Amino acid sequence: MLKSPMSRPEYEITMGAEVHVQVLNSDCKTKAFSAALATNDELSPNTNLDYIDYGLPGSLPVFNMAIARAAVRAGHALQCKIHKLSIFDDKNYGYVDMSCGRQITQFFSPIATGGKVPLVSEKTGIVGEIDLNRIHIEQDAGKNFHDINPEYTAVDFNRAGIGLLEIVTEPCFTSIDQVPIFVKSLRTILRHVNVCNCDMEKGEMRVDLSISVKPKGSTVLGTRVEVKNVNSIKDMREAAEYEFHRQVSLLNEGGRVLQETRLFDIKAGVTIAMRNKEDADEYLYIHDYNLPPLELSDEFIAKQRVHCVLPHDRCKYLVEEYNLKWADAYIIENDPGYSSFFANVCNFDSQTLVEAPLSREQILLAAKWMVGELFGLLANSDRSIENVNPVLLREIVLLIDSNVISGKVGKEVLKEAFEDDKSPKGIVKERGLQQVSDVGAVTQVISEVFDAYPNDVQRYKNGETKLFGFFVGAVTKRLKGVNIQVLRDELIKMLGQ
Ligand code: MN
Repeated sequence: MLKSPMSRPEYEITMGAEVHVQVLNSDCKTKAFSAALATNDELSPNTNLDYIDYGLPGSLPVFNMAIARAAVRAGHALQCKIHKLSIFDDKNYGYVDMSCGRQITQFFSPIATGGKVPLVSEKTGIVGEIDLNRIHIEQDAGKNFHDINPEYTAVDFNRAGIGLLEIVTEPCFTSIDQVPIFVKSLRTILRHVNVCNCDMEKGEMRVDLSISVKPKGSTVLGTRVEVKNVNSIKDMREAAEYEFHRQVSLLNEGGRVLQETRLFDIKAGVTIAMRNKEDADEYLYIHDYNLPPLELSDEFIAKQRVHCVLPHDRCKYLVEEYNLKWADAYIIENDPGYSSFFANVCNFDSQTLVEAPLSREQILLAAKWMVGELFGLLANSDRSIENVNPVLLREIVLLIDSNVISGKVGKEVLKEAFEDDKSPKGIVKERGLQQVSDVGAVTQVISEVFDAYPNDVQRYKNGETKLFGFFVGAVTKRLKGVNIQVLRDELIKMLGQ
């Protein structure tokens, strides 16, 4: 059994990440440099291809500007410096999934540099940030299959040539716990700005980790090892923990860590040496002379600035302005469907509904009812939030806030309105569920109760305050649907006299 990192306090881990994200969105129909479709759908192997994707002699790449649009959107969202001029290079290497022996990428002059990814925790808010080194554009490789024939590697090139954004962080992760938060935060942002859905199971987002250890407090980084094939958040955590212990054990035994690329073996839970890490010059990077430099106008860059605020910024706003719990704000804002439903309920934009925006207290109430009640109803039905009319929750909130119904009645009304697609207001009216909040009517009944139980009133005034509940019960019996808060307030006043 491996010990946890905490039991080895003399070393600490440093990590960086390289994230490859496929550009697959409604704006991007084709691959990065060819007319073949940009898709992850399961097609027959090697059918979705253009000459360029094979790198056949004489085929010339033509850059798809939708990839640049996606890169600029990601750059804006991640606060990068976006470069008006970037250059395509060839990365030369021989591997079966790259039939032409070179990958088009941007090595010397990437489209964006710098930037940061906020570490957004689901429960507690923004807990830090990860610095980015760069974002560059490149093309995807084919996919190898080692399990079809024991003697051969089969390759499907359908994926080859799909546009990728490679997002590279600085080596600034100081704890393994930051990795899952980073991946989820980055995924949310990239989804939000319509780069890709980032489904890791489909290989739409792939993460390589570079991991090194150093004596605690040292400012000199240790030799880094790159770990590939970490295709889920669970694998990343396991691979990082394994690698930390492997490197610490090596150093403790007087050995040294080799700079290399290792593969994570999911079944065995170990990393295996794959190849010595090539230095950059071994790739013989050279400008791609078939592609002109990528020049972007100020207008092009400005146009990609997505107008909507990022989910974590919306969360911050809801927490700071309206007192929502972070966890509630996070659930609402991290799903575009929930987010727009909530905005419609509250009428933030004053566009969808003719009614006025909700007040601060009503917005808080709306969030509580959405997370606390509506999500439960949705979970037990086969409906999605898109099929629920925001007016439903809005009416419930207004009915409760104006004391027309109690919270208890509100739950029943919401359920019925949800199931039968009725208006909550209509249900309350039809079934006469309004509370009695009229002070005159309430004090009238309290007087009647006092007249009926004079001895109990006397006992209360002599100090038997536990009789308060008895009076509440007696009034509610006579006055169905009385607003309990009004009743309590009036009772206190009248008993105090
Ligand atoms: Mn790459």
